[in-house]
Amino acid sequence: MPRKKTYKTPRGTKDILPEEQKYWQFIFSKAESFYKSSGFQRIFTPVFEEEELFARSIGGGTDIVKKEMYTFRDKSGNRLALRPEGTAGIIRAYIEHGMHTLPQPVKLYYIEPFFRYERPQEGRQRQFWQFGFEIIGDCHPIIDAQGVLLAWQSYKELGLSGLSLQINSIGCVKCHPRFRKILQDYYKKRKEDLCSNCRRRISVNPLRILDCKQKKCQKLTKNAPQIIDNLCNDCHEHFKLVLEYLDETNLPYNLNPHLVRGLDYYTKTVFEFWYKEEGSQNALGGGGRYDNLVSDLGGKSTCAFGFSAGIDRIVLNLKQQKIPIPRKKPVYVFVAQLGESAKKKSLALLEKLWQENIGATCALSKDNIKSQLKQASKQDIPITLILGQKEIIDGTIIIRNMREGIQEVVSQERLIEELKKRLM
Ligand code: AMP
Repeated sequence: MPRKKTYKTPRGTKDILPEEQKYWQFIFSKAESFYKSSGFQRIFTPVFEEEELFARSIGGGTDIVKKEMYTFRDKSGNRLALRPEGTAGIIRAYIEHGMHTLPQPVKLYYIEPFFRYERPQEGRQRQFWQFGFEIIGDCHPIIDAQGVLLAWQSYKELGLSGLSLQINSIGCVKCHPRFRKILQDYYKKRKEDLCSNCRRRISVNPLRILDCKQKKCQKLTKNAPQIIDNLCNDCHEHFKLVLEYLDETNLPYNLNPHLVRGLDYYTKTVFEFWYKEEGSQNALGGGGRYDNLVSDLGGKSTCAFGFSAGIDRIVLNLKQQKIPIPRKKPVYVFVAQLGESAKKKSLALLEKLWQENIGATCALSKDNIKSQLKQASKQDIPITLILGQKEIIDGTIIIRNMREGIQEVVSQERLIEELKKRLM
């Protein structure tokens, strides 16, 4: 017989199996509780959007839009793209739902998968997860400092250490033309030493050269003019204040004059978190201010600031740093049943336990009590409830302490109370 074809995950994607889940759930729940308790509200946006939304926001000249987007036409011929990042969709939603009428700033957070057609390697996937936030509708430089602090605390909440904060200002549309010219002059003279991509970038988008990962380009960039010396007065004053505010915290930052981000919508403050200062390949997250995006996408002129962290890379770091992951609320009770009527009643019993927030599991298709008890002890569940024919008639239930092997019979009415006593 010919062997049947088997299937594998597409390149750059992975299954996150039960044994890995503890890391993911830990990160999801920490991000969720930290952002919620810091005054943010969660938002979900579609996994795909109009392709043009990303070209207009991230920038048509960026690697993300030019090379890495999963684009397709749907059956009606609409050009769509799987989202490569979160901000564009959230700003689209801010405008579409008239969120400018809400008290500003609007503070939103997300925990979502994103898609980029990149060369897969450790910590670089084609489907990857990020958590992040956006603060929309506030221009004050203290928002930048608060945002950076929030971002930093997001890693602290997870117990991560060894991260360095890289920060820079890339100015605004007023400073860009002058700085572009200065950069173009610098790189034009050294064109031969640039990679072929960057040679093209000189005329299209010279700022992108600063972000090139090729060694020879990075070598030239080391001595390249710095945007920070060429900021307009507004941007200069803004960045000065951001740093002054940051100086009020215990957050150590690294002024990195060549830090730019891979997305065009940023203005003024940009920042990244690197693991052990090894460079942006090891970036665990980043963000910055983007004061033109809302208006570029058709909304009123609105300042905004955002951050996103790479969850896949955080998982690798949690493992590397051997950070202990606290166990989630364990399954506390195993419901074992004997006989057809007990089987039926077990469903209502499970329902009640779950409603009372008592973790409970079972093996309802099994008939043999021994094999059910075996399953319970295999999963290290401390209590098994045993419901048989006799218990159904008497309105009772057996509570078996699995570690000590002791059994007690209690009335079904008092069951929850008895379990809660043992849960304390
Ligand atoms: P970005 O949206 O490019 O600013 O990315 C923010 C963070 O997401 C990065 O610092 C990485 O930690 C993570 N990230 C970006 N792209 C990928 C990818 N292809 N695979 C895994 N993580 C990624």
